[in-house]
Amino acid sequence: MKLHRVTVETKIETSVQDDILETWETEIIESLRKEAVEIARKSYAPYSKFHVGAALRTESGAIVSGSNQENAAYPSGLCAERVTLFYANAHYPNESVTHLLIYAESEELGPLKSPITPCAACRQVLLEKEIVQNKPIKIILVGEEDVYIIPSVKSLVPLSFVPDSLNG
Ligand SMILES: [Zn+2]
Repeated sequence: MKLHRVTVETKIETSVQDDILETWETEIIESLRKEAVEIARKSYAPYSKFHVGAALRTESGAIVSGSNQENAAYPSGLCAERVTLFYANAHYPNESVTHLLIYAESEELGPLKSPITPCAACRQVLLEKEIVQNKPIKIILVGEEDVYIIPSVKSLVPLSFVPDSLNG
């Protein structure tokens, strides 16, 4: 039996827009951002007072958005990302997702300067969508000062548990 040391690094580089986004994507991202901001403000977050909006685009150009939905029995709630993706899967079951944008603001601080990142459970669900559709989903994390563009969910879930993992 061999022992292996495993480390995973995340690299965040400042870039000019042309490097990471195609011209046609800029407009899509702006409309996803508007959707996400609008729907975040309608989220049901009486406990955390932290409002998250997600908006995605399907391959046919449909835009689906959702927000976090909390519950007094805390684990019963659901994150904005999964609310959005599950809705898209229900209504557009055969379509792949090209982009998913995430935005958040808190009642105390307003819009956040730095982007938030999806929780581990949402990453897992997004990863499975990406694997099943066999095309990358571009993740856009939006803060007031910084925007992170992540070309594929895969890089958010290193050493991931995937459907094939069940086969040993
Ligand atoms: Zn989540």
